[in-house]
Amino acid sequence: MNENEDTTGGAHGAGQDKGTGITRRDMLRGLGIVAAVAPLGVAAGEDAPATAKAPPIADLLDEHFTSASGRHFGSQVIHIGEQNGYQVTPISQDKAAPDYQRPGNMSNPTVAALLRKVMEMEGTEAAVGGPCGMGIISQTYLALLKPGDRVVAHRCNYDWVMTLFREYLPSWGVKVDFVDLADPENLAKSLRAGPAKIVHWEPYVNPTMEVLDTPALISIAKDAGATVIVDNTWLSPYLLQPFRLGADLVIHSVTKYMGGHGNAMGGVVSGKKDLVAKIEKAQYWLGGLLRPMDAFLVTQGVKTLPLRMRQHCRSARMVAEFLHSHPAVAMVRYGGLPSWNHGAGSGLLKGFGGMLGVEWKKDSVHKRLGGNVKLMINATSLGDPVTRVIARGEEKDRGIPPRYTRVSIGLEDPEDLIADFKQAIERCG
Ligand code: PLP
Repeated sequence: MNENEDTTGGAHGAGQDKGTGITRRDMLRGLGIVAAVAPLGVAAGEDAPATAKAPPIADLLDEHFTSASGRHFGSQVIHIGEQNGYQVTPISQDKAAPDYQRPGNMSNPTVAALLRKVMEMEGTEAAVGGPCGMGIISQTYLALLKPGDRVVAHRCNYDWVMTLFREYLPSWGVKVDFVDLADPENLAKSLRAGPAKIVHWEPYVNPTMEVLDTPALISIAKDAGATVIVDNTWLSPYLLQPFRLGADLVIHSVTKYMGGHGNAMGGVVSGKKDLVAKIEKAQYWLGGLLRPMDAFLVTQGVKTLPLRMRQHCRSARMVAEFLHSHPAVAMVRYGGLPSWNHGAGSGLLKGFGGMLGVEWKKDSVHKRLGGNVKLMINATSLGDPVTRVIARGEEKDRGIPPRYTRVSIGLEDPEDLIADFKQAIERCG
């Protein structure tokens, strides 16, 4: 967006309302807002430029979003899915109304409110919930695979997905091949060597911060006839909508950015109707349901997803830039930094959320930073208002470097996060 544009105008700009003939400036004047920013010596009501230019609010939304309602993303996450007459759909704990709550599908109004919001954001045909991200991931794979099938996955995924792929799927007779998907040609090669039932990746990889070329990977996997499963937990549908690019299923640990307040756990898989129906059916015997209380809390969080994601992006960028210039740092891995992601600023993704990684020059900083932070928390997990740091061990096969710390930038003021990093690094010796 051009900095000089009226950012209050949203998608409709600052122009005249066709119906009323009232301009946005007239409306602001009516609310006393133009008068409040008029320069000294200019009487309120005179048509003078504002002295202080409002900072532009960059809209980082994936440009593929469309709604049958014609409304925008931010409005839809607030309104869609709520029970008629409610702005906050009540928590329905009834185990059997209107239907028995297994499988945990659209029959519970509280769970349905969240699932409908996810479907709207992702543009998916159907959705089903689970008790946490891993709960829905494991049920998805149990429901869709059988012995003899092959899965191709990026060489690095969330830790417990790695365990599922390395230990459990092979023990059930499913072959899993790990491929470096940073180069999409590697996927093409692997699929030429043999067919795969499913291809799985995270567009912004946990914890390596690699930015994978999701549109290219989808196109290669689809051409080879594979089912594409994208774990979109880290970017959220505000920044990326893989189903609209051709993915078959999109997974979210809604425990993270979707809920956004660190007070609930859940998982949602959404996508093609026939695939979601298979997962839903498997829940009759797997039984891993998304519970109404968690769905309720996540639903409230989802309503502020665009606001929070914009802030996570802005703060993470500021902290990443600070760390990039710090002498203790060997490399900052953040999708928005061209020094790490050469495609930053040019591709489909306009933002990368709050996740970044730091490679330290010295072991002492890697080992002691967590013990020295005062505002941030030294703990695992991510996507919450609070900022967390967690030291990782090197894992060469996954591309996790030595002396590496994963950071989840929260919603605190970024200046305070920078000050905390500064003092913590100084005390590491
Ligand atoms: N997928 C990704 C990308 C994650 O980062 C995580 C957790 O960190 C999960 C899945 C698992 O989610 P949950 O903790 O809700 O089981």
